[in-house]
Amino acid sequence: MKLNELKVDMDYFHMDEKLYERLKPTPLKNPKLVSFNKQACDLINLDYKECETQEFLDLLNGVKTLENSKTYSMVYAGHQFGYFVPQLGDGRAINLGAVNSWHLQTKGSGPTKYSRQGDGRAVLRSSIREYIMSEAMHALDIPTTRALAIINSDTFAHREWEKESCSIVMRMSPSWIRIGTFEFFAKTKNSKENLIKLADYVIEQNYPHLKDEDKKYEKMFYSLVDKTALMLAKWQVYGFMHGVMNTDNFSMAGVTIDYGPFAFMDYFDKNCICNHTDAEGRYSYNNQPYVARWNLIVLANALKEICDEDKLLEYMKTFMPQHENVYLELMNKRLGLVAVKSGNSNLDLILELLGALETSKIDYNVFFYKLTNLKSFDDISSITDFCVFTDPIQKWFDSYKKVCEIQDSNIEERNEIMKRVNPKYIIKNYMLQEAIQLAHSGDYSLVNDLLKIAQNPYAEHLKYDRYANPTPMEFANLKLSCSS
Ligand code: AMP
Ligand code: MG
Repeated sequence: MKLNELKVDMDYFHMDEKLYERLKPTPLKNPKLVSFNKQACDLINLDYKECETQEFLDLLNGVKTLENSKTYSMVYAGHQFGYFVPQLGDGRAINLGAVNSWHLQTKGSGPTKYSRQGDGRAVLRSSIREYIMSEAMHALDIPTTRALAIINSDTFAHREWEKESCSIVMRMSPSWIRIGTFEFFAKTKNSKENLIKLADYVIEQNYPHLKDEDKKYEKMFYSLVDKTALMLAKWQVYGFMHGVMNTDNFSMAGVTIDYGPFAFMDYFDKNCICNHTDAEGRYSYNNQPYVARWNLIVLANALKEICDEDKLLEYMKTFMPQHENVYLELMNKRLGLVAVKSGNSNLDLILELLGALETSKIDYNVFFYKLTNLKSFDDISSITDFCVFTDPIQKWFDSYKKVCEIQDSNIEERNEIMKRVNPKYIIKNYMLQEAIQLAHSGDYSLVNDLLKIAQNPYAEHLKYDRYANPTPMEFANLKLSCSS
């Protein structure tokens, strides 16, 4: 379809008008297309050719709107690093409405009523990171928002170090409602009425099967708990760290949103912290499932006017077991084992592996890729060659061999399972950094190449074979700044 044929659903304006702001974006100077994403085009049935038109640039830049689209920003609240902030909101994101159930949003479109001290802008660096990472997550089957395109410009913003060029990324999500949106609505004057409207909206968008059910708000919560437990298990399995798991960055649709100082862990370290403002490690790798559980408890509290809070809290007891089940099932797959077939979860083997990975200092995801390509147990030096200390992994292989024998698993069978879950390429921060550096000099080729790698992580990308190697030590497990 052409841009002007896209059918836009506007569905938020039945909320109390104090809960959003109708506004126009503030365009950037001399916008240039950096990249567009064909997979995302397919999701909204947009012809690829449309993305090379001036009209598309104008749409991203907020100069033109889609037919029927009315732009707005939303208010929300949230717990940031454990402390309640009564008013946040889309400080730099503007919503355009939904196409094919994908809610379009431009991030970096200028100040809104909710910008507080911020300039409403997003720098190129952060837009490239979000654009590529959300696609990488999707390719690993991790629930996430998607991204349609990025523009760069001759407008500049001041960040920590220097002036940086401003950009806009068009993101798409099944919902932009956050736990923090409920926290805000729970504190409004007509809180019960507002919460009901918001919950009905979320159910209609994301849990339509619950629409006519009894106790539908409780059931919405239970579904979100299930989805979040699954999402967290997948984060942990691939070593993804979000970096800022505040309740305003937690989606009611159970997808990963608001990419900031995230990272895929390079070398395994259970206490890894990727956000340099998180000195105490509230959002460290190991803490992530616990924080997600805490965030859901905050939601249970925000819903208490329309739900039986005790029931919600009772259901929260299933969160950790659910999370653990999915985690163990997937970790078994990463080892080529079938937990169900063997009748046990191989928990000891997995825990021993995590300890061995940590002490041997081997790249976490590279380990699994190398294991997938192991020809026989006589060949484990092809893996231990990548370890700083070889002993722990060598010892772990003794345990692994035993489990494989007991569970009657052969190498062909294991490789078949592993090659579906252990990709050759995982997008690491140092790769994004290379793409960003080139993009700053006006060369967007690596952004586009990384997008292809992110979307096809199991395929060969011969020109970029080096990205399948362990992260160079000097770039491993670095902490990133929140500024974006
Ligand atoms: P984050 O943790 O990046 O999701 O941001 C937290 C809050 O700050 C959100 O409400 C954002 O909209 C807002 N924010 C972040 N950066 C800016 C900016 N440059 N201008 C305005 N608001 C911002
Ligand atoms: Mg946010």
